[in-house]
Amino acid sequence: MPKKLVVIGNGMAAGHALEELFERAPGDYEVTIFGAEPRVNYNRIMLSPVLSGEKAYEDILIHDDAWYETHGITLHRGKQVVEIDRMARRVIAADGTAAEYDQLLVATGSMPFVVPIPGATLPGVVTYRDLDDVHRMLEAAQGGGHAIVIGGGLLGLEAAAGLRAQGMEVTVLHLMPTLMERQLDPSAGYLLQKAFEDRGIAVRCKANTHAILGDTQVTGVRLDDGTELPADIVVMAVGIRPNAVLAKDAGLETNRGVLVGDDMRTSDPDIFSVGECVEHRGLCYGLVAPLYEMAKVVAAQLAGDRTAAYTGSVTATKLKVTGIDLFSAGDFGEAKDRQDIVLRDAARGIYKRLVLKENRIVGAVLYGETGDGSWFFDLLRKETDVTDLRDTLIFGQSYVGGAPLDPMAAVAALPDDAEICGCNGVCKGKIVQTITDKGLSTLAEVRAHTKASASCGTCTGLVEQVMTLTLGDKFAKSAVEPMCGCTDLGHDDVRRLIRAAGLKSIPAVMQELGWKTSCGCAKCRPALNYYLLCDWPEEYEDDGRSRFINERIHANIQKDGTYSVVPRMWGGLTNPRELRAIADVAEKYNIPTVKVTGGQRIDLLGVRKEDLPAVWADLNDAGMVSGHAYAKGLRTVKTCVGTEWCRFGTQDSTGLGVKIEKFMWGSWTPAKVKMGVSGCPRNCAESTCKDVGVICVDSGFEIHFAGAAGLHIKGTQILCKVPDEDECIEVIAALTQLYREQGHYLERMYKWADRVGVDSIKATVVEDLEKRRALYERFVISQRNAQVDPWAERVAGRDAHEFRPMANFTLAEAAE
Ligand SMILES: Cc1cc2nc3c(=O)[nH]c(=O)nc-3n(C[C@H](O)[C@H](O)[C@H](O)COP(=O)(O)OP(=O)(O)OC[C@H]3O[C@@H](n4cnc5c(N)ncnc54)[C@H](O)[C@@H]3O)c2cc1C
Ligand code: SF4
Ligand code: SF4
Repeated sequence: MPKKLVVIGNGMAAGHALEELFERAPGDYEVTIFGAEPRVNYNRIMLSPVLSGEKAYEDILIHDDAWYETHGITLHRGKQVVEIDRMARRVIAADGTAAEYDQLLVATGSMPFVVPIPGATLPGVVTYRDLDDVHRMLEAAQGGGHAIVIGGGLLGLEAAAGLRAQGMEVTVLHLMPTLMERQLDPSAGYLLQKAFEDRGIAVRCKANTHAILGDTQVTGVRLDDGTELPADIVVMAVGIRPNAVLAKDAGLETNRGVLVGDDMRTSDPDIFSVGECVEHRGLCYGLVAPLYEMAKVVAAQLAGDRTAAYTGSVTATKLKVTGIDLFSAGDFGEAKDRQDIVLRDAARGIYKRLVLKENRIVGAVLYGETGDGSWFFDLLRKETDVTDLRDTLIFGQSYVGGAPLDPMAAVAALPDDAEICGCNGVCKGKIVQTITDKGLSTLAEVRAHTKASASCGTCTGLVEQVMTLTLGDKFAKSAVEPMCGCTDLGHDDVRRLIRAAGLKSIPAVMQELGWKTSCGCAKCRPALNYYLLCDWPEEYEDDGRSRFINERIHANIQKDGTYSVVPRMWGGLTNPRELRAIADVAEKYNIPTVKVTGGQRIDLLGVRKEDLPAVWADLNDAGMVSGHAYAKGLRTVKTCVGTEWCRFGTQDSTGLGVKIEKFMWGSWTPAKVKMGVSGCPRNCAESTCKDVGVICVDSGFEIHFAGAAGLHIKGTQILCKVPDEDECIEVIAALTQLYREQGHYLERMYKWADRVGVDSIKATVVEDLEKRRALYERFVISQRNAQVDPWAERVAGRDAHEFRPMANFTLAEAAE
């Protein structure tokens, strides 16, 4: 008969303890969890990437619903335990839900500390602890405006970077003279401040907040010196306190946190405690690595191993702000018996400092280059005597012994117990053994089985090196295909990082994301140009040099070197005046072929390159603009004749097609987009093989998408049905915008839909009205700058060099 284990708190420590327990003693316990948050267990340390937009909530789940089900866990979400009745051996939640236990695990984490200054309880003042806080910040960021972050520690700085990435004007107020003074020395703190200021985040050190201003909502803050700063949101990130109230009320011994012994038992031997709520040997921890060490001991004790003991941890810190490399561990305070080894490279913004005591490393601060962090940390934890390494120690592991080692040799030289993943406390030996025992070959598998690199991910490179070492050629490195040979990053990562780091030019992307070539290649440049255009429609200026020839010339190049020109005919409609103009142009410029295209437009084939501006000028004069027949953008909206002429028509399909085309022309997309509107299910416009198709029916409009009739033939999928034209256009624009934001460059809409899943597209565009509206609005904003006729621009002189004939090498000239 399994024993009853009740867990209070559904956070990271509890989750890890249960994982270890299920591995050690499957079936021994029937588990009930109470979690005050209304969700499953997620990776709290990844909230900052969610705030900055680099990750979504779904990306940071640790245990999904299936995990709880597999282990037969009863999970009470959103239920806060208010009482532990030790006599009756049961816990009671605020809503009366109760559960009896044989063993109890208290894992209530920490409470964010709020400085009790006037205004601290005003709406708009938030702490930074859970997903709800992130949502509050994201909501505030939607309106732009000013954010004040009180506290220049790890959390405050991550919040500041995230809010900046979301477009807010951010100021960090920090009481101490330098940032992160508990983890960094003043030199590294200074470099960090500069890096934040370079990102447009104002930093005020030695700034004491006197009051938060506002009547019904935060409007600003006042500092001790009387300075007032405006604020639409104030994030209070000044520290945390172990959440030990519940345990204290139950009569368990507490001090700053719940007191536990090395066996992780509280003063009641049937009650364990783990995580940030705990005080062990006088210390409370605020990082994951020690909590996971504690979790292992709790699990071992619960599984019956009375010898398992936790003896304390040495911690290391990394800041998770993209583009800032920072590592700090141990103690670097000044003292007589300590010596420093320092390396500074001002130009490259690199600063490294090791603090030695009796020839052992006691502290390490690395800024700008942190690759050797885990090696230094290993030497520190093991108190290794570094006398023999001292000369080259600061240059890192690869210089030990004077000769540079290759990185693989450096990893090979690491002992089995060297920590590779600090967040999850996974050492090299465990990774190697798990790979061998379980026959793993991909990073994803190693993550799933060992948790190495599954949290902040900064150790991914190291884990991959351990895998290469163990598996040799059998290591299936990174499933993500790089964008091109110039980078190891895939399209999704590049897009995510462009947004998160606010990169707004091709050189900025290449510099910040470590491109391996100086100016990229024919694969990555057009893709980056498109991504930047899509993400920053109001700021980014299109880079013509990063486009393929057809898009650069705004006409299609043909096999004999001439071009073809397709004027836009809205919804396939034309009139005698337009037809006359086309005929005149064809005669005037000796255009040999005039052809009707499959998309109901007229193609003028065989135009000489130097005639293009004149051809466009004449077509423009007749009121016609470019049909973008060459573009990775909206090409045509094909229509049938609908109710106006057809006996079967149920709606004005021609009118709707014209409206859609007039609204959406000029929009750039990852690959070409063709649309169609048919007036009834007879489908004369062939809407069901288009990227987006509409079938009009009696009760409204059926919207289809993700079809193709090119190299691949693919029927469309139904997205939804809507009652009127306005909603039809809103859904189509939102769908197109989602494709614009998620599609990989050159990926057709049907391939994108296959990759991300039709259900996820429906959930965003159809079911979530708020998201649909937001996508629609982003599309509208983008269109403000997109609906410019490229032909008219060229006629007016833009890019004139493109159309000048090359030098005419007559025989005489060539002979010279
Ligand atoms: C934004 C952010 C970034 C961080 N970054 C890092 C980092 O880079 N590296 C690192 O090592 N650490 C980081 N941390 C710290 C790390 O997240 C914590 O150390 C870790 O989550 C603590 O685990 P825990 O299980 O003790 O507490 P938590 O994960 O906080 O879980 C405690 C849970 O208990 C619930 N609870 C509390 N009281 C009750 C009750 N009475 N009844 C029911 N449920 C209750 C809470 O709602 C909470 O969900 C970060 C933390 C934050 C907030
Ligand atoms: S061509 Fe492009 S994708 Fe290929 S290596 Fe060069 S820059 Fe990279
Ligand atoms: S699709 Fe229907 S309405 Fe349109 S032309 Fe064909 S039969 Fe007529």
